Amino acid sequence: MAEFPNPLPKVSIDSEGPTLAQIIRHLRYANQIALRAQSFGHHPFGATLVAPDHETTLLSQGNVDTVNHAESVLIRSATTNFGPDYLWDCTLYTTVEPCAMCAATQYWGNVGRLVYGLSESRLLELTGNHPENPTLDVPCREIFQRGQKAIAVIGPIAEVEMEIANVHQAFWQNSH
Ligand SMILES: [Zn+2]
Repeated sequence: MAEFPNPLPKVSIDSEGPTLAQIIRHLRYANQIALRAQSFGHHPFGATLVAPDHETTLLSQGNVDTVNHAESVLIRSATTNFGPDYLWDCTLYTTVEPCAMCAATQYWGNVGRLVYGLSESRLLELTGNHPENPTLDVPCREIFQRGQKAIAVIGPIAEVEMEIANVHQAFWQNSH
């Protein structure tokens, strides 16, 4: 976990989104978290929470297990550490598009922006109907559209898609 900033970084000038350079940097870091999770025997998914300044990493989390995905665990931890108004200006970065459970957790956690590297449907192409990853193929935008608040979604990101896909291709092919 990154060093805890004090005071908390506030919204920079306005609530504009991150730059492409910031997106690439944070997704690469999330992919490192995914590899760390894999090294401890978990599936290679990683997520980070970035402050409204688009620079400060507040939390990071790898996959735990089938019902404790990186994003859901991270969001639950975030809601115990930060207030909802602050979280609304934060960004969740995740290597792969969040599943329906994680998108809903983000919704209830009030994190206002999402950036993902690889789409869920692309992941499904890589894993196939893998018994350890029976993909719930619902686009996260569909989940958010049913809600009452406008969560900004950015992704997939072409610049890092292949790096993330490579991690999954190696992992799921070896675990068939
Ligand atoms: Zn999930």
